Amino acid sequence: MSIEARNRFIGIDVGGTKIMGVVADPTTGEIQVRRKAPTPKTDPELLPDAIKNVVAELIDEAGRPVGVGVGVPGLVDHQGVLHYGPNVPGVLGLDMAGILRTEFGLPVIGENDATCAALAEHRLGAARGTMTAVIVNQGTGIAGGIVIGGRIHRGANGFAGEPGHMMINAGGHLCACGKRGCWEAVASGAGLANMARDVVADGKALRVLELAGGDPDSIRGEHVSAAIAEEDPEAAIILERFAGWVAEGLASLVALIDPELVVLGGGLTAINRHFISDVQEQMNKTVMGAAYRPEVPIVPARLGAEAGAIGAAVSARDLFFGR
Ligand SMILES: [Zn+2]
Repeated sequence: MSIEARNRFIGIDVGGTKIMGVVADPTTGEIQVRRKAPTPKTDPELLPDAIKNVVAELIDEAGRPVGVGVGVPGLVDHQGVLHYGPNVPGVLGLDMAGILRTEFGLPVIGENDATCAALAEHRLGAARGTMTAVIVNQGTGIAGGIVIGGRIHRGANGFAGEPGHMMINAGGHLCACGKRGCWEAVASGAGLANMARDVVADGKALRVLELAGGDPDSIRGEHVSAAIAEEDPEAAIILERFAGWVAEGLASLVALIDPELVVLGGGLTAINRHFISDVQEQMNKTVMGAAYRPEVPIVPARLGAEAGAIGAAVSARDLFFGR
């Protein structure tokens, strides 16, 4: 199916492992063409060309777009320049939007990847129509976005919306950012593995250890998922502890933002069918003034793994039509 030329935008989501590109209609979320390429790992100098190639392929396939949005992981300023990105080591000061503008002669906007995903959920997904919302995506790390006054809140420098690095357990597990005790270190995929190692160190969850080949250091989130799928009762202990940490972080966000709802996305929400309701139950108990406030519903994200790329296209459209 082809998209009307005036609604044709390219969205690029640059992740730590892959670059995902779409030609999409940002008013409906409809995707016409998809392209994927691996993120170059060995040499950060190769990243701009890898992204350019994805854009060129999308243009070849679907024709010239009205504009391009590119989401990159890390601290991205209002001009779209990446200042710091732990998931793309060695890439500093990258002005990917500027590079694409010069290469293709098109309007291009640069954004943080999680801001793009949150933008997509707000405009087209589970947070549609909200004035105040918190959007959290649990992957290897935790990404997020905050909606205030009906708009994504970008902050003074463009760096807002990093809930994964809220300090929640000072001195606790090591986070990818180098600090100990960030929410991400207990409530992401990496956090699930940390929980599992703790439970294994207590002499429990032996099935998880077995699935990891007997080495606690090899335990990853998917070993816990596999044990949960087998209905291993001790893996359930890990999951309950994990859901508790997810709830603690959300309760802090609720105390700070007072949102209409919380959108929870990422593969972990599907770990079992009770997960979101378990987190909801624990969050309802732990949130400040719990007995005296309405429940803040936790709802699953709708746009899945393509949210970032769709959101980048939405951001590019906003360049023309505003918000
Ligand atoms: Zn951190």
